[in-house]
Amino acid sequence: MTKTKTLAGLLAGVTLTASAALAQAYPDRQITMIVPFAAGGPTDTVGRLIAERMSADLGQQIIVENVGGAGGTLGAGQAAGAEADGYTILLHHIGMATSATLYRSLAYNPTEAFDYVGLVTEVPMTIVARKDLEPTDFAGLVSYVKENADTITMANAGIGAASQLCGMLFMQALEAPIVTVPYKGTGPAMTELLGGQIDIMCDQTTNTAEQIKGGAIKAYAVTSPARLDIFPDLPTVAEAGLPNLQVSVWHGLYTPKGTPPEAVARLTQSLQSALADPDLAAKLAELGTAPSPAADATPEALKAKLESEIARWKPVIEAAGVYAD
Ligand code: ASP
Repeated sequence: MTKTKTLAGLLAGVTLTASAALAQAYPDRQITMIVPFAAGGPTDTVGRLIAERMSADLGQQIIVENVGGAGGTLGAGQAAGAEADGYTILLHHIGMATSATLYRSLAYNPTEAFDYVGLVTEVPMTIVARKDLEPTDFAGLVSYVKENADTITMANAGIGAASQLCGMLFMQALEAPIVTVPYKGTGPAMTELLGGQIDIMCDQTTNTAEQIKGGAIKAYAVTSPARLDIFPDLPTVAEAGLPNLQVSVWHGLYTPKGTPPEAVARLTQSLQSALADPDLAAKLAELGTAPSPAADATPEALKAKLESEIARWKPVIEAAGVYAD
């Protein structure tokens, strides 16, 4: 054996040992999960449900840090710039795809700045209003919005948020430019809707289901292709005559680009075990959704989803001509 070969062999051995050691040691301290919207909202709800179960599986606490603002792009930007050591993770939704077009200059490249852990869940949206808004059904809401377009207010979580995308499609379909009010997330927007300071909103069932069930807000339609088991009487947007309003808010888990592959693999494994928890499935069912199947909770599935969703929404956003910058 030559000296060079011996050295190469030694180095390979060192690399293997180091990666095996990392795989065993990771995680050995607390992990931060960035949620790019305010506490109490739908992304936060999904993040905390997952963080709790992944913490138990990993044997280390996952702490949720809410970094709301600018439709999720501030939090995503913070995650993109964090150290790629496996101790910062990002839970984001469809906004990762739409912001790629909505922002002509973004501080990070959505397809380059992250490693992928896996898909988490896909959540339908609901078109809701303060409980004393006059219309009693979706057709009534459409006429009401058209007649009152300059005074009615619609909440969203900023340009890049799912609520903004849904609101944009709603206005486009009705040809009614409504006044929009941005919040750091739809958690605080819901508080204002409950208080009657805001008229309407389009938001995930993970934020609206309990309020609809309790009669605290009014619901007009769901944005899924089929009616939901929890709201069998609520029509789909397609039934209500607006098929182009279908939006499904998929959520994915990411790490900053360059995270050690062993750490990413451990996170994927942990995500899959969290999603297999029957208690999580029951909780999500109450909120109108379900965990992603294990086959989708993979880096490959999330990467494919992000790329296909960027391609899907780009022409829609360009046709609307709505940009953040
Ligand atoms: N539902 C919000 C959205 O519009 C985000 C949130 O507050 O979780 O994207």
